[in-house]
Amino acid sequence: MAASGASASASDDVPTYEYIDINTKPFHVGTFEKFWKESLNPKYYSFQDVDQETEDEEFAAEIGILPETVNELKVTCSKDTLRCHPENQPPDTDVVPADPGLITLRMKKRRQDYKETLIRDSTSRQDFYATELEGLGIGKRPADLQDMVPEGEIILNVNVLFPILHERFKYFRARQTLHVLGSHRLTDLRDAICCLSDLQVSGEFSQTPDIAPEFISKDLFKSAFFFLEGIFYNDMRYPECKDLSQTIREWGESHNFPTFQTAKMEDTRFRDLRIKVGYPYLYCHQGDCEHVVIITDIRLAHRDDCLDQKLYPLLTYKHRMVCRKCGVCNLYISRWITTNDSFAPTDPCLFCEICFRMLHYDTKGNKLGQFLAFPYVDAGAFN
Ligand SMILES: [Zn+2]
Ligand SMILES: [Zn+2]
Repeated sequence: MAASGASASASDDVPTYEYIDINTKPFHVGTFEKFWKESLNPKYYSFQDVDQETEDEEFAAEIGILPETVNELKVTCSKDTLRCHPENQPPDTDVVPADPGLITLRMKKRRQDYKETLIRDSTSRQDFYATELEGLGIGKRPADLQDMVPEGEIILNVNVLFPILHERFKYFRARQTLHVLGSHRLTDLRDAICCLSDLQVSGEFSQTPDIAPEFISKDLFKSAFFFLEGIFYNDMRYPECKDLSQTIREWGESHNFPTFQTAKMEDTRFRDLRIKVGYPYLYCHQGDCEHVVIITDIRLAHRDDCLDQKLYPLLTYKHRMVCRKCGVCNLYISRWITTNDSFAPTDPCLFCEICFRMLHYDTKGNKLGQFLAFPYVDAGAFN
């Protein structure tokens, strides 16, 4: 959006459309939304389906052709005219012709031939994209109209990167991409971020494996913060929450940094924020699990978007991880890791739940032999 017509103070709140630098200047999300809605005719962001005739008339007027020409174009360019076979003989799309001219078909044939040589079937890249999450939400409408996303609502694209401690991916890989609404609070995003550190269970549980789930880090250590534009937004929803930013702020003060402000995560909506699009911000939880969070886009909701408010924050991408399977059956995902274990082939050794119980406990659940057991959360468990 061009800022030339707006006043000096207002133009601070309008980002430059299609910005060529890495990130925009900071602007207020709610004001941006307001300016968009003031500038746009409401029909452009309405969720009502446009009547086909009106759309055709507008199209004809816009590009300066006669309505008859539009009709002729519609007939000529219709996808019904795209046919290589008679209508009553639909081809089998899995059968590639013997000598295909198209490169895509030749590639498909090569992949099919290669797949036939495999003993174990694996998911190809094409199958992977077929289940891309973003496509699943397109055009979804709620069963109850109460849950409809309001017209003119803004949608923010948020990329959450792997935690900094994940050495291999820390600079560039998004762990998750989510769509959040302007009306969402920061805590809604926080709850939608899925990170292994939240599910870790610390401690040794060889005597009492059944109680391990009661010690999940997410339930024990609930504090977290986002650091956006010099403000620490702390999650203070529960009495046991602590201000994790305190140590950083005190350190900053003792090193002559300007004083950082704090606010509550649960009181802040996305449309209240003043942020830069494309800028790396910080999300910190479990004390020191730090993720870079980047808002990559802000736009008005369109009628083709997922319009069921209950499905937001909408997960549109998640990175798939390789699973580490059980060291005994090599079939199920590992749930336990043991050390000093006389039953295990290696030290340490990974076990799935079934193999772990069968090998280390009798039918009454009594521990057999000597070993130390620690709950193990596999990154592939989220796939
Ligand atoms: Zn984390
Ligand atoms: Zn197993």
